[in-house]
Amino acid sequence: MNFALSDEHKMLQTAVRSFAEKEIAPLVEEAEKNQKFPVHLYKKMGELGYLCVNFPSQYGGAEAGVIGECVVIEEACRVCAGIGSAIMLQSGIGTTIILDYGTEEQRQKYIVPAVQGEKIAAFGLTEPGAGSDAASIQTRAEKKGDYYVINGRKTFITCGTICDFILVAAWTDRSQKPGKGISVILVEKGTPGFEVTRKLDKVGFLSSETAELVFEDCRVPVENLVGEEGRGFKYLMGSLTHGRITHSFSSIGIAQAAFDESLRYAGDREQFGRPIGKNQAVAFKLARMAMQINAARLMAYHAAWLYDNGLECAKEASMAKLFASETAVNVTNEAMHIFGGYGYMTEYNIQRYWRDAKLRPITEGTSEIQQMVIARELGL
Ligand SMILES: Cc1cc2nc3c(=O)[nH]c(=O)nc-3n(C[C@H](O)[C@H](O)[C@H](O)COP(=O)(O)OP(=O)(O)OC[C@H]3O[C@@H](n4cnc5c(N)ncnc54)[C@H](O)[C@@H]3O)c2cc1C
Repeated sequence: MNFALSDEHKMLQTAVRSFAEKEIAPLVEEAEKNQKFPVHLYKKMGELGYLCVNFPSQYGGAEAGVIGECVVIEEACRVCAGIGSAIMLQSGIGTTIILDYGTEEQRQKYIVPAVQGEKIAAFGLTEPGAGSDAASIQTRAEKKGDYYVINGRKTFITCGTICDFILVAAWTDRSQKPGKGISVILVEKGTPGFEVTRKLDKVGFLSSETAELVFEDCRVPVENLVGEEGRGFKYLMGSLTHGRITHSFSSIGIAQAAFDESLRYAGDREQFGRPIGKNQAVAFKLARMAMQINAARLMAYHAAWLYDNGLECAKEASMAKLFASETAVNVTNEAMHIFGGYGYMTEYNIQRYWRDAKLRPITEGTSEIQQMVIARELGL
């Protein structure tokens, strides 16, 4: 057994941590206040090779595996989960289906610029009436000659306002069962009939832009189909395992940031003539926070290692995602308490971590969905 990151992964971690502290941290306050993603970061990160590090070198990636991708996501989310989540999408669900099932032409047209930070990706599955039950989507894409005509609505779409292209899940054959009749189709920004109808106001992840989208008689060439017609749902479900592993590291990044600041604060803040951390009640909280983060990271790296080695890991990915999400919520909750009244003030980061953590058990499959997956994998 080897619990250490490789030398290459350690170098990547040092480099991305330094980048996140120097280049991302100064942007956070304004991005969160204006609820606007600093889009120039894509190009900067692309130039440094920090986007899609898991992708093959022939498309500009670093072949650093999912472990490498997780290293980048944790460091970015440690500084700002809103910004980190957009980066996570760029190497995850916004692009991997093209990489795995797309044509060479699609890879050159979308993957290469995504890795370089020249194009921004988004992913549209969720609809007003279809969240956890993703197979119940209503959006349809009818084939008419050389085009698909897409009609439907999508909601909660990360980067929906700023994306250059979006992978849309839509029915292409209603006569089939949900697992068979859904396809994934690429839609470019500016395509007539594709509109951002609303930028959504959120409680957390303020620097990540979330949108409601409408597709009204939106015509895209048949070449925009990704993979085979009717196999989209299978592709989507397959990509979830990868997504759950990377999502775990977003949670771990948030939890680590809240822990680091709480540990410092417990040493600095004095009440009754000594640092609050000298009280066992506070010290024990920090001990449990550290334990939970350590356990979450071990579980998530284990799942990432299984994934990188081509081993089955649906159960481990769901366990890691569930545990890491709960860890982010618990740790940020305790951090708020350790900071007392100051934690509740917007001038301290703790309230941001606390708000951001609340999203982690909801996206990429809620905690209930993870438990359903784990139970199913246990044969129940
Ligand atoms: C900020 C943000 C960004 C997002 N980004 C994207 C994106 O980029 N692309 C995209 O496609 N989607 C995105 N989503 C959507 C996200 O994946 C969904 O919110 C999530 O899948 C849950 O769906 P829902 O919100 O409709 O909740 P619902 O599915 O309505 O669930 C509501 C509650 O019921 C529970 N529940 C549902 N079914 C069951 C069951 N069978 N057993 C037990 N409990 C159940 C759930 O666990 C949850 O607690 C985003 C969401 C948010 C909030």
